Formats: sequence, structure tokens, C-alpha cells
Amino acid sequence: MSNSTYAANGDNGDLGSTEGELNAWKHRAPYKIHDNAEDFKVRYEGSCHCGKIKYQLSREKPLDSKYCHCTTCQKIHGAPFQWAAIFHKDDINFTHGHHDLGWYESSEKTCVHKLPCKVSCAYCRTPIMDEGRNMILLFPTLIDFKTPEERKNFDISCHMFYTRRILDINDGKPKWTGINDSSDLMADSPADAVNELKRKRQDEEQEKSKKDQE
Ligand SMILES: [Zn+2]
Ligand SMILES: [Zn+2]
Repeated sequence: MSNSTYAANGDNGDLGSTEGELNAWKHRAPYKIHDNAEDFKVRYEGSCHCGKIKYQLSREKPLDSKYCHCTTCQKIHGAPFQWAAIFHKDDINFTHGHHDLGWYESSEKTCVHKLPCKVSCAYCRTPIMDEGRNMILLFPTLIDFKTPEERKNFDISCHMFYTRRILDINDGKPKWTGINDSSDLMADSPADAVNELKRKRQDEEQEKSKKDQE
């Protein structure tokens, strides 16, 4: 969206054009307010530690949920691993404090809103989510689960970067050496998943050699 559009909407206020562009995120998902509450069925509520940031979720089950054992997650969370649940940007509605967020983009190490970035409460610094270009990776520890069944909806499908782990988790879930589906499975992964991946890789190899011959 261009700055002139903002000016026309009166959203740009007295700010210069650069400021207008820097603030453009406020008008887009996941930060835009869902005006029509009837469209948005509230299934979960979450908040940061100090309570300045509050949000609702409309989706019953995340698109995926996993533990990431990479060293960046360890360092940024001050924890042995990160628990993240993937949602569409439209699945979340910030009801409080959504303009009091802090950003961190880890490759350039900048604090401006530049995707993909880490999002935290600017006051108590609780990590809220990773905002990607199309999806959000929400940290379910902020959600106020009302029943064990609700919590179960967020059970993980796999572990990522398991080679970097601080501790072993013998839960029988697939364990990827790097990013899921594009690295290798390792120790304690279920045999089914290992065999399926082997088959998939063989098929890919066959496809590739077929193409190379054409
Ligand atoms: Zn807070
Ligand atoms: Zn990670």
C-alpha cells in the first residue's frame, strides 16, 4: 500500500512519508483489528507476562506445531528449545497492546519491522511469535489453556535441529537434523517416518534421473 493511500485515509497524520511506511504494519494482518467480531470465533486467549499484550485465536488446531532446538532459538528464548505453533495471520486478533510490540530481525539484527522478524512485548520482553512473510509461529506457552484437550491440540508433530539439542526427548516423534522435510531424520524417529522419507527421497532421485535423461 502506498503512502498516498494512507494520507487519503487520514491514517498518516502529520507523520512524514517514511514514518507512514514504517507504520504500515498496523493496518495489516496479523495486527489489524478484526472489526466484525462475529466473523472471528474466539477459541483461545493468550497474553504476555505483564499483560500489556493480549490476543485471541480463532483456529482450533494450529496448522503445525513443533519444537525447534536450534541455537538461535535457545539464545533468544533463554530456553533449551522453542515451542512454536503455526497459524495464518488472520487467525489472530490482538485485543490489547498490539501497537506496543518490539521487533527483532535476526539476520540484519535490526529492531524495525522487517519480515521475517521476532515479535515480543516491548515492556516485559516476553517473546510472542515469529512473524514470517505469510504465516506466524506463535509461542503456545502464552495461551491460557482451559482443558487438557485444548492443550493437546498443540501437541508437536516433530523436532527440528535435533542435532543441537540440550536434552534428549524420547517421545517417539520424528527428529530432523535441520528444518523438517528438507533435512534428515535421526535417532528415535519412528521407523514409519524414516522409511517414508527414504521412499520419498528415492522417488525424487528417480524423477531427477528421468529428467536428466530427457
Ligand atoms: Zn508484556
Ligand atoms: Zn530454531
